[in-house]
Amino acid sequence: MTGIAEKTELLGLTLDEVTNFMVSLGEKPYRARQLYDAMARRRIKSFDSMTELPKTLRRILEDNSVVSRTQIQNVFVSSDGTRRFLMTLKDGSEVESVFMPEERRDTICISSQVGCPLACTFCMTGVLGLKRNLNVSEIVSQVILALNQVYGEGVEVPHRTNIVMMGMGEPLLNYDQVMQAVRFLLDPNGMAIVPRGLTLSTAGIVPRIYDLAREEIRPRLAISLTATNDELRNQLFPINRKYPLEELMKACRSYPLGERERLTFEYVMLDGINDSDANARELVRTLSGIRAKVNLIPHNPAPELPYASSPMDRIQGFQRILTERGLPSFIRRPRGQDISAACGQLAARHQASS
Ligand code: SAH
Repeated sequence: MTGIAEKTELLGLTLDEVTNFMVSLGEKPYRARQLYDAMARRRIKSFDSMTELPKTLRRILEDNSVVSRTQIQNVFVSSDGTRRFLMTLKDGSEVESVFMPEERRDTICISSQVGCPLACTFCMTGVLGLKRNLNVSEIVSQVILALNQVYGEGVEVPHRTNIVMMGMGEPLLNYDQVMQAVRFLLDPNGMAIVPRGLTLSTAGIVPRIYDLAREEIRPRLAISLTATNDELRNQLFPINRKYPLEELMKACRSYPLGERERLTFEYVMLDGINDSDANARELVRTLSGIRAKVNLIPHNPAPELPYASSPMDRIQGFQRILTERGLPSFIRRPRGQDISAACGQLAARHQASS
């Protein structure tokens, strides 16, 4: 053998994969169920704390594997209770995750890539460019580490956890690892996120939307729309030149929805750019025939970005037009703006704010 074999990363593996691993160590399959339960349901990271496993096995696991190598480098806490986690990966790369508490549930926003290749002109992550994709362990460890920092390792969470894949990166450009993470998070015997509590957001990677439509286990889907004509969308989303609006909307129209499911469309409100009454009417026309709901997101500023948010009375005026025409919409309250944790502000900053 040349050198030391790299330890197997266990977090994010399916129970079947953990079982294969256990069997390869010469252990019984029920040990795999115990290990999976400790990692996925109880969020335990150190083998020493898995006291249901014999000491000798814990030592063998220690020598051959690791639950996850992701570490919390820093936590920034907002005046609204939002926490931004700066996480360090095994190669020193940094990603961010955002924990947003509410009275009856928490929402955790997780990243799918280090940086992002899409270079949307209104988003800070685009300024970074793409460094690399995350693997399944790195995707799901963000949820585990955040919950453990807030509630403690092994402690049952007091209420529902929702997950949004809306952090750094374009999840549909890291399709296989992201879908493994989706299946891990939704496993009722593990993390047990409820199906309607997991949402993936895409800027519109059309062929992958068709792939997603064929998956047996899928997240809820959100589309970052923000512009309803190609001229404007090309300026804001360079990817629109590759997958123009008509193709994107065609994919959305054919996307299968559950009984009470709606497709979510995110619309970032940019002052003087996409927020006129005419834009609102164009949005209604674009979404006609789709069971849709719209999230109106005030633009979160950053010194590097050349846009400002529409004023609140304009956002309300815009919403009124959608409501009159029967298109449901919600105005999102920005969270964690003071610590650079809000939508479009994730840039792995080491200070609380820019
Ligand atoms: N790449 C995926 C996942 C990132 S989601 C996607 O584009 O959907 C990030 C969400 O934040 C998107 O809906 C995007 O439109 C929104 N966003 C990006 N920059 C923003 C900003 N500066 N202010 C408010 N929302 C922003």
